[in-house]
Amino acid sequence: TNDNEWNELQNTLHRYVEGSKKETARGRVASYIPELAKAPHDALGISLMNGDGQTLMAGDCELRFTMQSISKVFTFILALMDRGEDAVFAKVGKEPTGDDFNSMLKLELVEPGIPFNPFINAGAIAITSMIAGRDADEKAERILQFLRRVSGNSGLAVKDEVYRSEYETAHRNRSLAYFLKDNGVLEDDVDRILDVYFRHCAVEVTCSDVAKMALVLAYGGVDPISGERLIPRRFVQITKTFMITCGMYNASGAFAIEVGLPAKSGVSGGILTLVPGRYGIGVVGPALNRKGNSVAGVHVLQQLSEHFDWSLF
Ligand code: GLU
Repeated sequence: TNDNEWNELQNTLHRYVEGSKKETARGRVASYIPELAKAPHDALGISLMNGDGQTLMAGDCELRFTMQSISKVFTFILALMDRGEDAVFAKVGKEPTGDDFNSMLKLELVEPGIPFNPFINAGAIAITSMIAGRDADEKAERILQFLRRVSGNSGLAVKDEVYRSEYETAHRNRSLAYFLKDNGVLEDDVDRILDVYFRHCAVEVTCSDVAKMALVLAYGGVDPISGERLIPRRFVQITKTFMITCGMYNASGAFAIEVGLPAKSGVSGGILTLVPGRYGIGVVGPALNRKGNSVAGVHVLQQLSEHFDWSLF
């Protein structure tokens, strides 16, 4: 039963983390945003939360990291809630690209010049431009409030050093945004949109915050602890599908084979994943593999999924 599984997890989770920690030596911490390079390269932490709100933690769970691309899951959901499905899919497609997350290669190729999906940078920037709000401050504040609500942590905030570090070095994201602006995809001024985008990428969390956010997705948009519906079921379904097809960059196919769970990772080494109807999971391990995913984080999820037979497929 699930109770037995929870007991086994409780007794063994730390051993899984111990077993995967050495994998960190095979990865590298992201440094293209200078502030991210300060993260500890040998850290690995995992937090699992069940529908009763019980949490299991192992490894470096106290490590604070910025959400980076994990935030794109929630800006996408918020844009769907603000604007509806038709408006959102007028600006982003539904397909993986096979290119790097910050690539410009395919921006010209799809009619009418919209990004392939909401999780690559170009797509996420287009999504950020659709968040309701009078100005950049109000948009960023609405995103933060939504993240606080889903995580149940009213203390979530933007880590200013990371925000500023990205702001000063994001030449590539700026060029993507100008390209989208020229294609008529962006609804607002480029600088204002990027300002909101950098802020939501820099929201600081722990594994347990991420596990709680994932738990709401695992329960179809309902917070199982309060019983409150936070996200319409349909939007969770759409989002989890993108997590399978595009959530782990160009390793999404391999992750679907080896782990088989909806997931989203970020360049800070975080991974949000979930076992539908059962657990929300947050992982952090700043050392990344060549595809940009936490090397030890993917390893520990592989081991757990195989042992507990979590794959959806
Ligand atoms: N803020 C990062 C960027 O735009 C997020 C990238 C990521 O986590 O994939 O480059």
